[in-house]
Amino acid sequence: MQSMTVTSPAETMQLGQQLAKLVQPGDLILLDGDLGAGKTTFTKGLAAGLGIDRNVKSPTFTLIREYQQGRLPLYHMDVYRLEDGGAEDLGLEEYFDGDGVSVVEWSQFIADILPSDYLRIGLSRSGTDDDQRTITLTPKGARYQQLVAQLEG
Ligand code: ADP
Ligand code: MG
Repeated sequence: MQSMTVTSPAETMQLGQQLAKLVQPGDLILLDGDLGAGKTTFTKGLAAGLGIDRNVKSPTFTLIREYQQGRLPLYHMDVYRLEDGGAEDLGLEEYFDGDGVSVVEWSQFIADILPSDYLRIGLSRSGTDDDQRTITLTPKGARYQQLVAQLEG
Protein backbone atom coordinates (compact mmCIF):
# COMPACT_ATOMS: atom_id res chain seq x y z
CA MET A 1 0.00 0.00 0.00
CA GLN A 2 1.16 3.48 -0.80
CA SER A 3 -0.23 6.88 0.10
CA MET A 4 0.40 10.32 -1.24
CA THR A 5 -0.99 13.78 -0.74
CA VAL A 6 -2.11 16.05 -3.57
CA THR A 7 -3.22 19.65 -3.25
CA SER A 8 -5.18 20.41 -6.42
CA PRO A 9 -7.55 18.78 -8.93
CA ALA A 10 -4.78 19.15 -11.52
CA GLU A 11 -2.46 17.04 -9.41
CA THR A 12 -5.09 14.32 -9.05
CA MET A 13 -5.56 14.34 -12.82
CA GLN A 14 -1.83 14.14 -13.31
CA LEU A 15 -1.71 10.93 -11.31
CA GLY A 16 -4.45 9.53 -13.54
CA GLN A 17 -2.44 10.55 -16.57
CA GLN A 18 0.63 8.76 -15.26
CA LEU A 19 -1.38 5.62 -14.65
CA ALA A 20 -2.75 5.82 -18.21
CA LYS A 21 0.74 5.27 -19.60
CA LEU A 22 1.02 1.95 -17.78
CA VAL A 23 -2.40 0.32 -18.06
CA GLN A 24 -2.97 -2.75 -20.21
CA PRO A 25 -6.03 -4.40 -21.76
CA GLY A 26 -8.18 -5.98 -19.06
CA ASP A 27 -6.91 -3.84 -16.20
CA LEU A 28 -9.39 -2.99 -13.45
CA ILE A 29 -9.11 0.20 -11.41
CA LEU A 30 -11.42 0.77 -8.45
CA LEU A 31 -11.96 4.34 -7.27
CA ASP A 32 -13.33 4.62 -3.78
CA GLY A 33 -14.07 7.73 -1.77
CA ASP A 34 -16.94 9.97 -0.74
CA LEU A 35 -18.91 12.25 -3.01
CA GLY A 36 -16.57 14.99 -4.19
CA ALA A 37 -13.43 13.10 -3.22
CA GLY A 38 -12.13 13.27 -6.79
CA LYS A 39 -12.98 9.91 -8.40
CA THR A 40 -14.29 11.43 -11.60
CA THR A 41 -11.48 14.00 -11.63
CA PHE A 42 -8.98 11.16 -11.49
CA THR A 43 -10.81 9.40 -14.34
CA LYS A 44 -10.63 12.57 -16.44
CA GLY A 45 -6.85 12.49 -16.08
CA LEU A 46 -6.72 8.81 -16.95
CA ALA A 47 -8.85 9.41 -20.03
CA ALA A 48 -6.67 12.32 -21.14
CA GLY A 49 -3.60 10.15 -20.66
CA LEU A 50 -5.12 7.49 -22.90
CA GLY A 51 -5.57 10.15 -25.55
CA ILE A 52 -9.34 10.35 -25.18
CA ASP A 53 -10.30 13.78 -26.39
CA ARG A 54 -13.77 13.85 -24.84
CA ASN A 55 -15.39 15.47 -21.87
CA VAL A 56 -15.56 12.65 -19.33
CA LYS A 57 -18.66 12.96 -17.16
CA SER A 58 -19.65 10.66 -14.36
CA PRO A 59 -22.06 7.99 -15.64
CA THR A 60 -24.24 8.30 -12.55
CA PHE A 61 -27.48 7.60 -14.43
CA THR A 62 -26.23 5.44 -17.28
CA LEU A 63 -23.93 3.42 -14.94
CA ILE A 64 -21.37 3.06 -17.71
CA ARG A 65 -19.81 5.12 -20.46
CA GLU A 66 -17.50 3.66 -23.05
CA TYR A 67 -14.75 5.64 -24.78
CA GLN A 68 -13.14 4.08 -27.84
CA GLN A 69 -11.00 7.00 -29.02
CA GLY A 70 -7.86 6.35 -27.00
CA ARG A 71 -4.87 4.01 -26.88
CA LEU A 72 -7.15 1.49 -25.14
CA PRO A 73 -10.92 1.46 -24.70
CA LEU A 74 -12.01 3.01 -21.41
CA TYR A 75 -15.04 1.62 -19.58
CA HIS A 76 -16.03 4.15 -16.96
CA MET A 77 -18.57 2.89 -14.43
CA ASP A 78 -20.27 4.69 -11.58
CA VAL A 79 -22.24 2.12 -9.64
CA TYR A 80 -23.52 4.38 -6.88
CA ARG A 81 -27.07 3.52 -7.92
CA LEU A 82 -26.40 -0.14 -7.13
CA GLU A 83 -26.12 0.59 -3.43
CA ASP A 84 -29.11 -1.70 -2.82
CA GLY A 85 -27.91 -4.48 -5.13
CA GLY A 86 -28.74 -5.51 -8.67
CA ALA A 87 -25.20 -5.71 -10.04
CA GLU A 88 -25.57 -9.39 -10.93
CA ASP A 89 -27.92 -8.78 -13.85
CA LEU A 90 -25.96 -6.09 -15.62
CA GLY A 91 -23.22 -8.10 -17.30
CA LEU A 92 -20.44 -5.87 -15.96
CA GLU A 93 -18.13 -8.91 -16.08
CA GLU A 94 -18.04 -8.53 -19.84
CA TYR A 95 -16.32 -5.21 -19.38
CA PHE A 96 -13.90 -6.58 -16.79
CA ASP A 97 -12.97 -9.38 -19.22
CA GLY A 98 -12.84 -7.01 -22.19
CA ASP A 99 -9.95 -5.43 -24.05
CA GLY A 100 -10.23 -2.09 -22.35
CA VAL A 101 -9.45 -0.54 -18.99
CA SER A 102 -12.33 -0.64 -16.52
CA VAL A 103 -12.64 2.14 -13.97
CA VAL A 104 -15.29 1.73 -11.28
CA GLU A 105 -16.45 4.52 -8.98
CA TRP A 106 -18.11 3.31 -5.73
CA SER A 107 -16.89 -0.25 -6.24
CA GLN A 108 -17.94 -1.22 -2.72
CA PHE A 109 -21.50 -1.48 -4.03
CA ILE A 110 -20.56 -4.27 -6.42
CA ALA A 111 -18.13 -6.06 -4.11
CA ASP A 112 -19.90 -9.38 -4.79
CA ILE A 113 -19.08 -9.45 -8.48
CA LEU A 114 -15.56 -7.99 -8.50
CA PRO A 115 -12.70 -10.12 -9.84
CA SER A 116 -10.03 -11.14 -7.33
CA ASP A 117 -7.32 -8.85 -8.71
CA TYR A 118 -7.48 -5.08 -9.16
CA LEU A 119 -5.89 -1.79 -8.20
CA ARG A 120 -7.90 0.01 -5.57
CA ILE A 121 -7.39 3.76 -5.39
CA GLY A 122 -8.84 5.44 -2.34
CA LEU A 123 -9.35 9.20 -2.31
CA SER A 124 -10.24 11.22 0.75
CA ARG A 125 -10.17 14.81 1.86
CA SER A 126 -7.33 15.49 4.22
CA GLY A 127 -5.94 18.41 6.14
CA THR A 128 -7.65 21.77 6.42
CA ASP A 129 -7.13 22.75 2.77
CA ASP A 130 -10.31 22.23 0.69
CA ASP A 131 -8.24 21.02 -2.24
CA GLN A 132 -6.09 18.53 -0.38
CA ARG A 133 -6.62 14.81 -0.88
CA THR A 134 -4.88 11.71 0.38
CA ILE A 135 -4.68 9.10 -2.36
CA THR A 136 -3.97 5.52 -1.40
CA LEU A 137 -2.99 2.78 -3.84
CA THR A 138 -3.80 -0.78 -2.81
CA PRO A 139 -2.93 -3.43 -5.41
CA LYS A 140 -4.40 -6.91 -5.24
CA GLY A 141 -2.56 -9.58 -7.20
CA ALA A 142 0.79 -9.67 -8.98
CA ARG A 143 -0.27 -7.64 -12.02
CA TYR A 144 -1.29 -4.66 -9.89
CA GLN A 145 1.70 -4.88 -7.58
CA GLN A 146 3.81 -4.56 -10.70
CA LEU A 147 1.69 -1.64 -11.90
CA VAL A 148 2.14 0.25 -8.63
CA ALA A 149 5.88 -0.46 -8.68
CA GLN A 150 6.05 1.00 -12.20
CA LEU A 151 4.07 4.03 -11.10
CA GLU A 152 6.52 4.62 -8.28
CA GLY A 153 9.52 4.04 -10.53
P1 ADP B 1 -16.29 12.24 -7.14
O1 ADP B 1 -16.32 11.62 -8.49
O2 ADP B 1 -15.40 11.50 -6.17
O3 ADP B 1 -17.65 12.48 -6.57
P2 ADP B 1 -15.42 14.65 -8.50
O4 ADP B 1 -14.12 14.34 -9.15
O5 ADP B 1 -16.64 14.64 -9.35
O6 ADP B 1 -15.61 13.68 -7.24
O7 ADP B 1 -15.38 16.05 -7.79
C1 ADP B 1 -14.30 16.46 -7.00
C2 ADP B 1 -14.48 17.95 -6.72
O8 ADP B 1 -13.50 18.37 -5.79
C3 ADP B 1 -14.30 18.78 -7.98
O9 ADP B 1 -15.15 19.89 -7.92
C4 ADP B 1 -12.84 19.20 -7.87
O10 ADP B 1 -12.57 20.41 -8.54
C5 ADP B 1 -12.68 19.36 -6.37
N1 ADP B 1 -11.30 19.14 -5.91
C6 ADP B 1 -10.61 19.98 -5.12
N2 ADP B 1 -9.39 19.53 -4.85
C7 ADP B 1 -9.27 18.34 -5.49
C8 ADP B 1 -8.22 17.40 -5.60
N3 ADP B 1 -7.02 17.55 -4.99
N4 ADP B 1 -8.45 16.30 -6.36
C9 ADP B 1 -9.63 16.12 -6.96
N5 ADP B 1 -10.68 16.98 -6.90
C10 ADP B 1 -10.51 18.09 -6.17
MG1 MG C 1 -17.87 10.77 -9.64
